[in-house]
Order: sequence, then C-alpha cells, then structure tokens
Amino acid sequence: MYENFRTKELAVPTLFDPFSLKGATLRNRIAVSPMCQYSAADGVVNDWHLSHLAGLARGGAGLVTVEATAVSPEGRISPGCLGLWDDEQAKALAPAVDLIKSAGAVAGIQLAHAGRKGSANLPWEGDDHIPDDDPRGWPTISPSAVPLGGGLGKVPTEMTLADIARVRADFVSAAERARDLGFEWLNLHFAHGYLAQSFLSRHANQRTDSYGGSRENRARFLVETLRAVREVWPQDRPLTVRLGVIEFDGDDERTLTESIETARELKQEGMDLLDVSMGFSTVDSQIPWGPAMLGPYAGRVREEAGVPTSTSWRIRTPQQAEELVSTGKVDLVVLGTALLAEPHWPFRAARELGVPAPATTTLPVQYAHWLSRYDGA
Ligand code: NDP
Repeated sequence: MYENFRTKELAVPTLFDPFSLKGATLRNRIAVSPMCQYSAADGVVNDWHLSHLAGLARGGAGLVTVEATAVSPEGRISPGCLGLWDDEQAKALAPAVDLIKSAGAVAGIQLAHAGRKGSANLPWEGDDHIPDDDPRGWPTISPSAVPLGGGLGKVPTEMTLADIARVRADFVSAAERARDLGFEWLNLHFAHGYLAQSFLSRHANQRTDSYGGSRENRARFLVETLRAVREVWPQDRPLTVRLGVIEFDGDDERTLTESIETARELKQEGMDLLDVSMGFSTVDSQIPWGPAMLGPYAGRVREEAGVPTSTSWRIRTPQQAEELVSTGKVDLVVLGTALLAEPHWPFRAARELGVPAPATTTLPVQYAHWLSRYDGA
C-alpha cells in the first residue's frame, strides 16, 4: 500500500499520508488528543506541560493539541487546569508553540468552559466536586440549575443572557490570545458534558428562552460562539470543534440526528472539522466500550454533514487507525492513552504498516539516525 508513498496521489488515504486543512498541513493523520495534565497553578503552564508536549510532538504525530484550556477562571475543570484569560498565562504558554512546531508537528490548542462539571478535584484526588465550603472551589454555571449527578452533584447557577454573552466574549478573547501566540489549529471543546455540550443536551438544558427547547435553540450557544470566534480566528487556520454526538442513553438515533444537523450548522458558520466524541451529559449512559467504537458514528457524521472528521476512544493499534482512515470514516485519528503509554507510537505504526524509512518518516534526526535499522529484535 505504501510503495508509492508520497510520490503520487493515492486513491485510498492512508494513515501516513499528509493531511491539509486550510493553511495547515499535517505530516500524517495521527493527532495527539488534548489531554488535561491537572498540573497548573492559576492556569499557568509550567515545565511539566512543556516537556509533556515536546515529548509527544517528537513522537511523530502530525498534530499536537494543548489540553482543554479554560477561557475564564470558572471555566476550569479543576484548580490544576490551564487557562488563557490573562497575559501571564499567554506568556507562559508561548514556548509550547515553538516546541511543537520545531518537532515538525502542527501546534493546536483546545479552548474550553467546564460549565457544571467545573470546580472538581483532580482525577487522582477523587474527580468529584470540591465541597462548597472548601476555598479551592468556585460556583459553577450551566444553561439550567441541573446538576450532573454522581460525584459531580453540585447545583450550578442557571446562566442569564448576560452570562451567555460574557462566556462567548471569553471564548473570543482566548482565541485572540491563541492566534497571537501562533497556534495554527483551534479546537473548541463542545463535548464531554462541559458547558457547550450542556446547552445542546436534553438532559442538562431545561431553558424556556431562545437557548432551550428545540434543537435549533439548544445549538444556539454553540453556533453563536463558533461564529464569534471565527471572526477573530484567521481564515487560513483550521477552526475545529469536539462535539459529543451520542450519549448512549437509549435515545441515540435522535441525538445523532440532532448532532449531525448541528454539525451542518457549525460548518456553515466556518467550522473546518468535527472531532466526534461522546456527550457525557448523564450518569446513566451505557457506553459500549470496544475497539475504535466511535468510528461508525464519525463516518456517519462525515458522510451526512459533509465535514472532515476525527475521532478517538479505544483506538490502540496501527491497524485500527489505518482502517478508520482508509475506509473514509475519519480524516484524522486522535490518540490519547495510546500515546501516553508509547509516545513513539507513530514510529511503531509506520514500521508495522510498512511505511518506507519509518524512523526518518516519524522521528527527529537525533533519534531517527540510531533507529533507522531498528527492527525491535
Ligand atoms: P481511551 O479508550 O483510553 O479512554 C480514555 C478513558 O476512558 C480511560 O482512561 C477510561 O477512563 C475510560 N475508559 C476507556 N475504556 C474504558 C472501559 N472499558 N470501561 C470504562 N472506562 C473506560 O481513549 P483515548 O485514549 O482515545 O482517549 C479518549 C479521550 O479521553 C481523549 O481524546 C482525551 O480527550 C481524553 N483523555 C484525556 C486524558 C487526560 O486528560 N489526561 C488522558 C487520556 C485520554 P477512567 O480512567 O476514568 O476509567
């Protein structure tokens, strides 16, 4: 399959074909998922984040996206999350862009607002809400005063129209900072039960105004936020969205249909790619965990909404990733835990898939020189 690698147009895209979207060209179809490190103080990047990102970029992926970065203090998931609401945070984040680019990857960032899931303890300290009387926590906001439940039972304050306008403006300010830092790829986190997903969710949104009720109304916050960000985010840089297109709550066809309609609307407003994920809007979901389990849904969104897609979740092997790309389900494969386990996963994938010169194709010369004849035996 790779005999004519990069020398002629291949009919079937493969994992190691470059991928171009707007002005960004990724060296392959492997992306590093935004992965929260829960290691910041006051939202500021430190050495841990920089070495984490540099290591993953050196592993050979085409895109490295900085973790969910909050657009405001109350938009953080936990006290350890990154932020981009002030200049000190922007200054500390600047080296990440250079580290990622100098390793040959495209530098992306995910902007987020945690909504009712904010003010949580770190995953390894419980992953539940910080108690109300603990000064490390903060009041949360959501479309409606409806808690998620389980360990995240804190009741959020229902957002006023002024709150909605303020959060939209916070997304715009953070996008401007990301733009000025030189990030080449922006992802808006509209998934995983955080604020934007809560607007779209029938579980979380019980509003009776123009932001609740019909699918169109529940999508309004997402559409308006994307539109406002698109105005400041350069036209030649990809603007992408992570959306939970399915809840696995027993009402899946309806949620998928609504999500696909929302994807079409977001595309019209300038979204360049949809990263297909899960909603996590209810603690009662029954997730069918399995290899590359979201692939079919990503393929359906790609086909029916007519947008490039990516997806993640339980993608472990090079063969699974290759299948997702070559069968047209996704344009990009987004890896999280597989890359934490094995930061040079792209090198192994290139070897296993028979890509010529796998070391020089995936690794910086400082590693590739020594690994050019490496066969693992
Ligand atoms: P994985 O399949 O590795 O899933 C990530 C998490 O999903 C696991 O850590 C686990 O959460 C849960 N999970 C996976 N399989 C099962 C299962 N069989 N039963 C119950 N829970 C399961 O997917 P990816 O590596 O593709 O990651 C998916 C997304 O998760 C990424 O795109 C990224 O956004 C996010 N992620 C974030 C990380 C971070 O923020 N540091 C790290 C890795 C992924 P749990 O550990 O809570 O049980």
